[in-house]
Amino acid sequence: MPEPTTPLIERPWEDVERMVDVDSALELVLAAFAPLPPTTLPLLEAAGMVLARDVVARDNVPPFRNSAMDGYAVRAADTASATWSGPVELPIAGHVAAGQRDVPPLGAGAAIRIMTGAPLPVGADAVVRFEETNESGSAFQPGLETVLIYRAAGPLDNVREAGEDIARGTSVACRGQVLRPADLGLIAAAGEPRVCVHRRPVVAVLSTGNEVLPPGNELTPGTIRDSNSVVIGALARSWGADVRLLGIAQDSVTDLIGRLDQARDADLIVTSGGVSLGDYDLVKDVLKSEGEIAIWQVRMKPGKPLAFGHIGLVPLLGLPGNPVAAAVSFIIFGRPAIRKMLGHQVTDPRTVEVISADGIDNRGQRRHYVRVRLEPGDGSPAVARIAGEQGAGVLSSLAAADALLIVPEDVERALPGTRLRAILLD
Ligand code: AMP
Ligand code: MG
Repeated sequence: MPEPTTPLIERPWEDVERMVDVDSALELVLAAFAPLPPTTLPLLEAAGMVLARDVVARDNVPPFRNSAMDGYAVRAADTASATWSGPVELPIAGHVAAGQRDVPPLGAGAAIRIMTGAPLPVGADAVVRFEETNESGSAFQPGLETVLIYRAAGPLDNVREAGEDIARGTSVACRGQVLRPADLGLIAAAGEPRVCVHRRPVVAVLSTGNEVLPPGNELTPGTIRDSNSVVIGALARSWGADVRLLGIAQDSVTDLIGRLDQARDADLIVTSGGVSLGDYDLVKDVLKSEGEIAIWQVRMKPGKPLAFGHIGLVPLLGLPGNPVAAAVSFIIFGRPAIRKMLGHQVTDPRTVEVISADGIDNRGQRRHYVRVRLEPGDGSPAVARIAGEQGAGVLSSLAAADALLIVPEDVERALPGTRLRAILLD
């Protein structure tokens, strides 16, 4: 049996005055993080990450003047009199395909058959679509020597100018910007195969508890399977972190220290369990002896006890053990910390206004995060319905939920029909 904990730190948590509110706790946590140093990644690996350096176009996009359509390159002036009843007939002087290097120039009074993306012949200033000629896009017929043009082309009709999308030397993407797929495409088109982004944080995840077994194990009396590591790990990964699982620590100082030691190079350690008032809640004691720690009783539900501190230089977030309390606390405190390390300017969760279908009791002046399902309201805010039992250990209702409805500290009872905000869970 491990030694029961001696109360190394005073226990201020019964004292409501010394409870901290969610916003103050978050502010204290966030103050310990900064954007991580830049790293250079291939474009696809940088999807969703934050640019650490501006990207300037190496080349024009598009790089050369080209045709936006399959059709005939002409001089617009040569087609000025063309109408549907009185087409202009021009000799076909050549053929140019996309990727073709040697493009014949276009002389006056002629047309060159041209494909989408092919360089515009020198001398041409417009393209007439096949649909407005005598061919309607049929295959090139050898021996067909003239083309009938049924519509007068204006200068630059169906012509894409060099650099019309992005000009060489101008900014394609700016520092601080989140790289979405189209941004990455622009950067690729402008000639950069890699970008400089804030690197992903390494988040080390540790479960604790003598009763906790890895998921593949057969249960023995008194044991449960570890769900926290996988929930926390999956959340961290979905937010952009690299996850390192440290396994499950026994409720013993030696095992805790040994496992935490494997995370000396992590950017954040996240533990679950062992931070409340039980005899074997040793995480706080280990933090106290090995590093520095603050434990707060945060005014939130679920998830009251929260430890935050450092082991060596590594910040540690000590979440409660109950699966929903752990997940909700990690969403509220861990996500902003990870986003800040990734360089995101916005660390707040995305919230929407909803209408609560149910009445919700909220005594005790805590911020209550209620697991709800959202039903689309036609035109008006979505309707939020309680997703199931709300106990701090009831993971099935979190799995069933689309959002966490926020009932503020000062609302003792939210009546059905109340407008509230909700954090989206996807
Ligand atoms: P603790 O905060 O360590 O007292 O744990 C609170 C509750 O959460 C207890 O019922 C634990 O068995 C449970 N618990 C702790 N860690 C985990 C875990 N990794 N997975 C699932 N349940 C856990
Ligand atoms: Mg425990």
